[in-house]
Amino acid sequence: MIDRSTVWPYDDRGQPRDFMYQRYGHPTGAEAEAALGALEGGDALLYGSGTSAVTACAFALLKPGATVAVAEGAYFGTTVTLRELEPWGLNIVQFDQTGEPPAGADLIWLESPANPLLTVPNWDAVNACGATVVCDATVSTPVYLKALDKGADVVLHSATKFLTGHHNALLGATVTRDPELTARLREVRTRIGLSAAPDAAEALLHGLETLEVRMRRHTETASDLAQRLAGHPRVSRVRYPGFSGLISFDVDGDPVPVETATRLIANQTSLGGVASSMESRHRWEGDRIPKGLLRLSVGLEDADSLWRDLDRALTSP
Ligand code: PLP
Repeated sequence: MIDRSTVWPYDDRGQPRDFMYQRYGHPTGAEAEAALGALEGGDALLYGSGTSAVTACAFALLKPGATVAVAEGAYFGTTVTLRELEPWGLNIVQFDQTGEPPAGADLIWLESPANPLLTVPNWDAVNACGATVVCDATVSTPVYLKALDKGADVVLHSATKFLTGHHNALLGATVTRDPELTARLREVRTRIGLSAAPDAAEALLHGLETLEVRMRRHTETASDLAQRLAGHPRVSRVRYPGFSGLISFDVDGDPVPVETATRLIANQTSLGGVASSMESRHRWEGDRIPKGLLRLSVGLEDADSLWRDLDRALTSP
């Protein structure tokens, strides 16, 4: 039974118990945080969305005048969110995360792998520069990446995607090992009101029960489809990092007739669900990505059925 209370009574001495007001924390959230923290090897905090987790990191880690170096080709919404803080004195620069981070950045923002260009960071170069590091590991999940072990100070997830896995919860998370940093993030979450709802936390608990088996199956099917796509005459480039369920590939010409021609693969945004989805990203991201790029989130359906759907869409006029 999910406890959806927003308020809990004080104890007999008038002191707050573990839970007293939902914005500060709630039992389902605490349980889900413990489960995610155990997987990542750190202290997890949940937020109302991945974007709320981005906002919390910005407030907890940065001050006016600070420079954030964000990986190029990473989720475009992260840069859009950070740019909202430019009028308050934040400087945003972009860099190629496969090379050296720019000198003088206060915070390095990685995404492994980047959505949708699917690059992975050069951890040696990042660790050599000594800046604070946030790594968005939404697409890897802890099944394929323990970013705290690689050198990240904060791991961030849009748990809306693979972690919950069923397109039924909007949720974000951070995981940290430094108790002061965790306390600061918790304070920002509470004060700015970025907390997660109990139902979304419950969806995470369910999602984590099957995470490992889902991720292995996403990988198996996506590896197969990436190979088949690379051999298709209509496809000029395939990006796939070799794990997880996200592929991006380029078609010559307009990608919209392809995305709208699939039947099994839903034409919709987002990623990480048990059901496959695909969309042209140019509609959202403009010229920062190739015009013909299609982002395919491979679900748990049968690989041959998915390929038949894709092949038919690619070969339709
Ligand atoms: N990080 C990545 C890699 C994403 O793909 C997304 C959303 O697509 C986000 C963060 C933002 O998460 P949310 O939509 O849960 O706010």
